Amino acid sequence: ERLGWCVVGLGSFALNQVIPAIARSQTARLTALVSGNADKAARVAEHYGVPDAAIYDYENFDEIADNDDIDVVYIVLPNGLHAEYTIRAFEAGKHVMCEKPMANTVEECRQMIAASERADKKLMIAYRAHFEPHNERALQMKEDGEFGDVKMVLASTMRTLDLSRPRDEWRVLRDLAGGGSTMDIGIYALNGALYFLGETPTALVASIANPPDDVRFREVEDMLTAQLTFPSGALVNLASAYTLNENRIQLLGTEGTGLLDPATSYSGNELRQTGPDVGTRIVPVSEPAARQFTGEIDHLSRAVMEDFEPRTPGAMGLRDVGLIMAMYASAERNAWVTLNPDGTMAEG
Ligand code: NAD
Repeated sequence: ERLGWCVVGLGSFALNQVIPAIARSQTARLTALVSGNADKAARVAEHYGVPDAAIYDYENFDEIADNDDIDVVYIVLPNGLHAEYTIRAFEAGKHVMCEKPMANTVEECRQMIAASERADKKLMIAYRAHFEPHNERALQMKEDGEFGDVKMVLASTMRTLDLSRPRDEWRVLRDLAGGGSTMDIGIYALNGALYFLGETPTALVASIANPPDDVRFREVEDMLTAQLTFPSGALVNLASAYTLNENRIQLLGTEGTGLLDPATSYSGNELRQTGPDVGTRIVPVSEPAARQFTGEIDHLSRAVMEDFEPRTPGAMGLRDVGLIMAMYASAERNAWVTLNPDGTMAEG
């Protein structure tokens, strides 16, 4: 059995990763498209066998309610549009996969979760690294105690923002992006660190630095570093940037180290283990990194068919948006910020 999936937004990630992964998936089939560009939508529809009647635009989007071939709606729009289209999809009676970051504000995240509950439909945030074989292997090794007690995570996820590419144009605009490198790419370091530690931080402090004369950073941040403290006593250092290139997550345990480098690429991720018994070795991982894309799609299809809560639910997306907002507040105030159990700031 395959569920019908509708993709909203035919940009770079949707066309190059999401739609091909739906086409490869054993649990999903592409049954509808939503786009503002009718010519592009018609081309994509023809290529993937989507009927013309199942092509929607942003005005008639709500008519997806009448299409029984749509079970799940996958939101691949700029961040500032995630909340509106997620809520409209729930009101149309569909399940939703929403890209990261979940939304621009904690309030929007709360509204999305409430809409999911009202509709009694699943909400999953597309944190693909949770379905990436090297990341899954590293978590398994950590849980098996192969690194001893993991007490620190050092995580840096960065990429160069390139305004000559259309997909990066909206990322410099606060209304559409919600923030800078941390919302876009640093969120992988944050989400990964919490995934490996299995706990939510109690406090954080962050710093931001922007090159003064760079047009890219008038509205959103370039570099951010943050320190996070945890109930277990663990410490995390995060780094994010739009002018540097790095993608690594390091788990430091009392009996060794696990290093994902690259950690969250689309392909070619690598896991290295260092320890007294093994020296340094590359950990063999049988499945390719690209399995992450079908992995997350299959996970939500199964969550719908078997009625379970997805591993990366709305509460996780809210937590991460809350933590990023706390980082921005900390950098602004030049002070530590205390956190609620859900990841939001404890004080004003
Ligand atoms: P993109 O610019 O290539 O795609 C966005 C699409 O939204 C475009 O087709 C654009 O035309 C459309 N759009 C509709 N209304 C718009 C409006 N008002 N303003 C601007 N564009 C509008 O961007 P992308 O890189 O594909 O990113 C889309 C989403 O996917 C983002 O939320 C991003 O964070 C996420 N993403 C996730 C990953 C991942 O690995 N999980 C990778 C890339 C992007």
